[in-house]
Amino acid sequence: MTSVYNYTLRELEDFFISIDEKKYRAHQLYDFLYHQKITTFSEVTTFSYDLINKINDYLTIDRLKIIDKQETIDTVKYLFELNDGHKIETVLMRHNYGNSICISTQVGCNMGCLFCESGRLKKVRDLEPAEMVLQILMIQRELNEHITHVVIMGIGEPFDNYDNVIKFIKIINDNKGLNIGARRITVSTCGLISQIEAFMNEPFQVNLAISLHSAIDNVRSKLMPVNKVYNISKIIEIIKQYIKKTNRRVTFEYIMLYDINDSEDDALALVKLLKGINCYVNLIPYNETSNLDYKKSSKERILAFYDILKKNKINVTIRREFGTTINAACGQLRSKY
Ligand code: SAH
Repeated sequence: MTSVYNYTLRELEDFFISIDEKKYRAHQLYDFLYHQKITTFSEVTTFSYDLINKINDYLTIDRLKIIDKQETIDTVKYLFELNDGHKIETVLMRHNYGNSICISTQVGCNMGCLFCESGRLKKVRDLEPAEMVLQILMIQRELNEHITHVVIMGIGEPFDNYDNVIKFIKIINDNKGLNIGARRITVSTCGLISQIEAFMNEPFQVNLAISLHSAIDNVRSKLMPVNKVYNISKIIEIIKQYIKKTNRRVTFEYIMLYDINDSEDDALALVKLLKGINCYVNLIPYNETSNLDYKKSSKERILAFYDILKKNKINVTIRREFGTTINAACGQLRSKY
């Protein structure tokens, strides 16, 4: 038995053919799953009683259990329980341009970034595509609001669960399904090189974000152990190839950590590294965690850093702070439980 939400439309067509049914049944079912938002197969009114019984032998139509929910004016954060009891977090953020959902891709994470709450909980397992799709469907159903954007930046390293994440993207991007445009989907990675290479050969125009956090190798290695394997020059080399191949602008995320990576020298190192690359930098105010070694940069430092980048013609934005009062930073709600 497998979840129906694991299926791309193509795979569902193959499934119906394999049980001696017509493949247009897949299109009918997709419509009920993603537009009518059914919760049992018996609600598929275009299917006969026999057909419903037949698919019930092979497929499940599951859900996630809502364990906790915390809300502010612009954020709703959910703690979901998976079928095997593990818990994951998903956040809905209301922007002026629409609603975006931040998706988790693994239970825990093995990357071990020191500033990150999720990294303290080692990876237990990868999420299936269905468990990512359901994060969107559950919230859509609950709030009855339209989801326009998806950011794959919740708990986990998406490129450490590459195949499932790619399948998830195909499912939500399908214009017969949720129809979330590729340009409205962003995947964030700590910089796994071979997966970035694979990603640039995928047939869709999904945005790529790289968690950089420092332009200086020994600083980055202290923050992100992954840098000891894939250092900054390796990342820049593959990103240049990525841009050449896809013609797409890349985002570099940069958390502002007080006295760690927020000085004038840090800003100048970043300018030097990114000069001439088609990218933009997203400065992220740090959400403080239980690791007391890291504090958030002051507003003055963030603005000074921003000014240096601007003056040197690097595209830069400062991320709006969401949900800091509701433990919305990665993994903070989950680690409470
Ligand atoms: N593993 C992926 C995606 C998940 S983390 C990655 O590394 O990109 C998503 C983003 O949130 C990353 O840029 C990460 O560095 C950042 N992040 C982690 N903990 C944070 C915190 N406490 N405050 C602000 N940003 C944080």
